[in-house]
Amino acid sequence: MKKISFFLSLIFFAPIIFFAGCQNDQQLQKNLYMIDLAYDQLNHTAKANMTLDYVNTSETAFENIVFHLYPNAFTEEAEGSVCSSVNEPKVYPNGKSFGGIEIKSVEIAGEKAGYDFQGDFDSQLVVSLPEKLFPDERVQIYFEFDLVLPNANHRYGYGDNAVNFANFYPIACVYREGQGFATDSYSPNGDPFFSDCSDYQISITYDKNLIIACSGDDVVTEENVETKTTKISCYNVRDYAFVLSDKFLIKSEKVQDTTVSYYYYEDQDPEGSLNTAKNAITTFSEMFGDYPYSSYAVVQTNFVYGGMEYPQLVMISDLLKGDDNDYVIVHETAHQWWYGVVGNDEYNESWLDESLTEYSTALFFEKNQDYGISYSQMVNGARSNYNLFIKTYKTIKGEVDTSMDRSLDEFETEPEYVNNIYVRGIIMFDTLKSQIGEKKFLNALSGYYSKFKFKNATTADFIATFEEKCGRQMEGFFNSWLFGEVVFIEMN
Ligand SMILES: [Zn+2]
Repeated sequence: MKKISFFLSLIFFAPIIFFAGCQNDQQLQKNLYMIDLAYDQLNHTAKANMTLDYVNTSETAFENIVFHLYPNAFTEEAEGSVCSSVNEPKVYPNGKSFGGIEIKSVEIAGEKAGYDFQGDFDSQLVVSLPEKLFPDERVQIYFEFDLVLPNANHRYGYGDNAVNFANFYPIACVYREGQGFATDSYSPNGDPFFSDCSDYQISITYDKNLIIACSGDDVVTEENVETKTTKISCYNVRDYAFVLSDKFLIKSEKVQDTTVSYYYYEDQDPEGSLNTAKNAITTFSEMFGDYPYSSYAVVQTNFVYGGMEYPQLVMISDLLKGDDNDYVIVHETAHQWWYGVVGNDEYNESWLDESLTEYSTALFFEKNQDYGISYSQMVNGARSNYNLFIKTYKTIKGEVDTSMDRSLDEFETEPEYVNNIYVRGIIMFDTLKSQIGEKKFLNALSGYYSKFKFKNATTADFIATFEEKCGRQMEGFFNSWLFGEVVFIEMN
C-alpha cells in the first residue's frame, strides 16, 4: 500500500504527518479457487459460491482448515479495524457505512460440513473436515456466501466512482509448521494479509452498464440480456481482486510479453500514467527478474490511501488528482515483485515487502530520471524526516520505538508505522547498497526473487540470501536496523 501524498509530505510538509495523523512452477502443490459471483448494483450486494480444491502442503494431518473472512472487518462490530479515526472522513465521505460476508453453507463431498467462527468480529471461519486431511492430500470444499459492500473508499466497498472487490472471499490462512494457521485478523496500519500462491477460475456477472477492471492469463466476457459475465483464469497468484465502474476508460499496450492496461476516469495524462506503469514493469524486470504474468492492470478508483497492490492489479486513488500519480504507480508496481511474486507475512513482517518496495521505488527513479524525482532527493528527504520523527516523538512521548520488525498491531500510531517501515526502510537499504555496492546488492535481490518466486519468505530467509550472495555475515547489520539499535541517522 502507499499512503496518500506521502512522498510530497515527506519532502515538503514533514511536520504535517506527525500531527495530522505460474506455469513454470507447476510442480508446486497449489490450491485452486473457483469462484462464481453475481453483483447486484442496486443494493451493493453480491451472491457467490466458491469451490476450493485445497491441498495440504504441510507435514501435519489437518482436522480443520481456517479461512480469513476479511469483509467482516467492515462490520459494525469491527469498528476501528479498517482505518484510523483520522482517515474516517476520507473512507466514509457519505457517513459511516458497514458491510460484511455471510456464510450461507459449507459442503464437503456433497454433505453439509461443520463450521464455526473465531476471532474478533468473526474474522475467521473454521471448517471441520469429515476425516483427517493428510499431507499432500486434497479436499474440495464448497461455500455459498452473500456479500454486503460498505459505502467506503476502501479495498472492499463502493464509492462515487467505482466498486472495489478485494479480499472478498474466504481465503485459506497460511499454515506454519509447528505454529498452526496464521490467523492475524486486520489492522488499520499497513496491509494485514498473508496467503499462499494459488490458481483461480473466476466468473463475475454484473450489469451491462459496468466495465470490469481485472487481470488474468485468460479473460473472456460474454454479453447476456441485461448483464455481462467475465470469466477469468489465472495462475500462481496469492489473491484476486477486481474493480467495477460505469466510468472506466481504458488504455492498453504490450511491454515484453505482458499487456499493461490502465483503467481511469479522471487523469489529465492517461498516456503518461500508462507509460509509467510500462516503464516500471520494464525497469523492475531488468533489475530483479521477469514479471511472470501475461497481464497487469493499473486501476484508478476511490480509495483512501495512495494505492493498493494485488497480484496483476493495483488500485490507484482518485484522490491523488494527478499529484504523486507516477510515484504511486511505481510503488504499487514494485509490489508485484515484493508481496506479489515473493510473498511474506505482511502482518508480522511488513518491512519485508513494504520497505523493500519503497526502496525499489527510489531505485526506479535513479534509473528513470525524467520524472523530476531523484534518488538522492528521496534518500535525503527520508533522512531528514526520520530525524524529525525521532526528535518529535522524543519531545512528545519521551521515547521512541525505532524497530521495524514487529507486527502491525505493535505500531501505536500511523506516523510511527510510516516512519519506521517506509522512511527508515529507504535509509536502511541505501546504507546497505553503499556498503556492499550496487552490483552485489542487485544480485542478492534477484537471487532472493528467483529463490522465493511464488513462495513466502521470512526475515531469516532474506538475511540468509543476502549473506549467501554477498559471501559475508550480515545479521549484525540487519538486526541493528530491524530491531531499532540504529537511532539517529547521520546526514550526508
Ligand atoms: Zn506499499
